[in-house]
Amino acid sequence: MLGALNLLSVIGICAVAAFLLWEMRLDATRRTEISSRSVVQVLSRDIARNIEMYDLSLRAVVDGMKRSEVMQALPELRQMILFDRATSAAGFANLLVLDRDGDVIANSQTLGPVSFNASDREYFRYFANRADDGLHISTPIVSRLSGRPVLIMSRRLSNSDGIFAGVVVGGIELDYIRNLFATADADHLGTVTLYGPKGTIVMRDPFDLDRLGISVAQTPSYQRMLAAKSGSFIGPAMLGEGDRHFVFAQIGDYPLQLSTSVTPAQVYSDWLGKALGLGGVVVSLCGTTVVLIWMFGRELSRRKRSEQVTATLNVELEQMATTDALTGLANRRRFDEVLAREWRRSVRTQQPLSLILLDADHFKGFNDTYGHQKGDAALKLIARSIEAATDPAHDIACRIGGEEFAVILPETDAAGAEIVADRIREAVSGWKEPHAANPHGVLTVSGGLAQIPQVRAADTAALIAIADRALYQAKARGRNQIRVAGEREAGLRTVAGTQNTALRS
Ligand code: GH3
Ligand code: MG
Ligand code: MG
Repeated sequence: MLGALNLLSVIGICAVAAFLLWEMRLDATRRTEISSRSVVQVLSRDIARNIEMYDLSLRAVVDGMKRSEVMQALPELRQMILFDRATSAAGFANLLVLDRDGDVIANSQTLGPVSFNASDREYFRYFANRADDGLHISTPIVSRLSGRPVLIMSRRLSNSDGIFAGVVVGGIELDYIRNLFATADADHLGTVTLYGPKGTIVMRDPFDLDRLGISVAQTPSYQRMLAAKSGSFIGPAMLGEGDRHFVFAQIGDYPLQLSTSVTPAQVYSDWLGKALGLGGVVVSLCGTTVVLIWMFGRELSRRKRSEQVTATLNVELEQMATTDALTGLANRRRFDEVLAREWRRSVRTQQPLSLILLDADHFKGFNDTYGHQKGDAALKLIARSIEAATDPAHDIACRIGGEEFAVILPETDAAGAEIVADRIREAVSGWKEPHAANPHGVLTVSGGLAQIPQVRAADTAALIAIADRALYQAKARGRNQIRVAGEREAGLRTVAGTQNTALRS
């Protein structure tokens, strides 16, 4: 029971702890997800708004270039009209208008001529070959004008019948995006990455120059990101080992994606500390519980054992206190108890009760002749004879004195008791134990018998006295015989109305 209780409480504590830890772990995941989402949301919105603003500048130039009066205006005025919006856009550099050959024909920075040809640039070739009125965003490149890395945004210039007339371009400064990332304060969220067209890494925080421009287009995690507009998942890292928790979103309708990717170690570092702490507490709690219950169980069984020992001891003591050490028969004390009890029962139930007193004949002589030890052995022989002749379930055989024995026979009349007494007498003489001091030549016993209510005795002492008187008679008449106290016994008759010694005692 205690073992089961022990096991149950340990399982209980562990289950609660496991549940708590699991909840805390889920919570860590949730918290990472929530803060990742908000970073992705804020950054992608900022970037989208900037791009939108930059695009407005490009459109303004495209619109301006369509009007002949703008082209015919004075250079300063034309500059003001075309690049009005661009000058106010932070992080947007070098708005250029390229003609159909890729040469610069207008420039937001300066009025002077710029010798620059972009006909080999990807965006230029893109628009030269395509009647696309939309916005084009390039992979990151190093600006030929500023020498700094930029993401080129461009729009096509077409003449009235749609023929390619040039390109309007502007560069988003990657440093500007880098600063934007820094303001997001997302150190604890692993890596924040901006992906450009064809899966190229445009910017990442923490900043790593070597990784910019690398394409991750073929990685499963990027493909997965591309398939949905926004979301989160756990997948293999795009660069590096192991899994990452990705939260991502497409930036507006542009070919740009933003993601945060967190390693499990980053997600669960806080949790792990708490889990170890809690685990330690739980283990010591379980240990304490196990030890306490074990100690309790040990104490219980110790008590139980000692109770058992005490009980056995008590039984043994009781046995010893009521048993004669030499013969194993009931002793005098037990004889008195049983006789008193059976006396009361006999009075109550009106059933007969017989008492036999037995005494070894000339036993002093036996001892004198053969020694005390032989005498003891002879007493044991007498005891065995009594045991053999009586029924232990009903009769109580006792040694009540040195060489004196008694048998209490409940619910037995004098006739029955006489048979038992004679059987004992015969059994003793039957041993043929030599006894030189006895005229019979062998060990013998004499017996006196009395039965109530055949004899009237006032109490147990009177009954004993009557039986003793019968015994005395047996001795007087030559020993090795049984005398029954009753009508035929002079002075022992206890018939109503007669005055005799037995009654008076
Ligand atoms: P009687 O036939 O008249 O009974 O003669 P008796 O010698 O048996 O009677 P008595 O009462 O004079 O002697 C009893 C003797 O029993 C005295 C003692 O030596 C012996 N006796 C009593 N108790 C023990 C005992 O425990 N062991 C031995 N060996 N002898 C005992
Ligand atoms: Mg005697
Ligand atoms: Mg005797």
